[in-house]
Amino acid sequence: MILVSACLLGVDCKYNGSNSLNKDVLEFITDKGSFVACCPELLGGLSIPRGPYEITGGTGKEVVEGDAKVLSPTGEDVTQEFLEGARKTLNIAKQNGVKLAILKARSPSCGVNRIYDGTFSGMLIKGDGVTAALLREEGIELISDEEITERNLRKTNRIW
Ligand code: SF4
Repeated sequence: MILVSACLLGVDCKYNGSNSLNKDVLEFITDKGSFVACCPELLGGLSIPRGPYEITGGTGKEVVEGDAKVLSPTGEDVTQEFLEGARKTLNIAKQNGVKLAILKARSPSCGVNRIYDGTFSGMLIKGDGVTAALLREEGIELISDEEITERNLRKTNRIW
């Protein structure tokens, strides 16, 4: 079973009420069979629209460990909501025997390997979002939607 960030499937759950539909992800999960879609930020009790939010003082791993926070540009602290959403997503993953998660790149919840640096300037740092960090800690393999798209482009020789 594969867990997927809901916004990648066209669900309008992003902070601004839009989605991040990725046809490469749709094709990938259709090929593989069953999947479960989640939006950790909604599961954590946040609404649409919301934020935007970024992790300040570390990455998702540090948020999980209690050493960093998730804030809006005006200082609204939503660390607890992000942690709650991550825990609920992990529970869903466990209940469904998820081994692989396809997550939205750069999100403070779902980002895999790279996230925004907390300054709301578009700069990136190495690290996972909060939910991604918790899923990784539990041994679930993570891949971002951008990696899926890149693999597809390589397969069709559209990039070298
Ligand atoms: Fe929800 Fe994750 Fe998509 Fe953000 S990136 S809208 S938390 S599914």
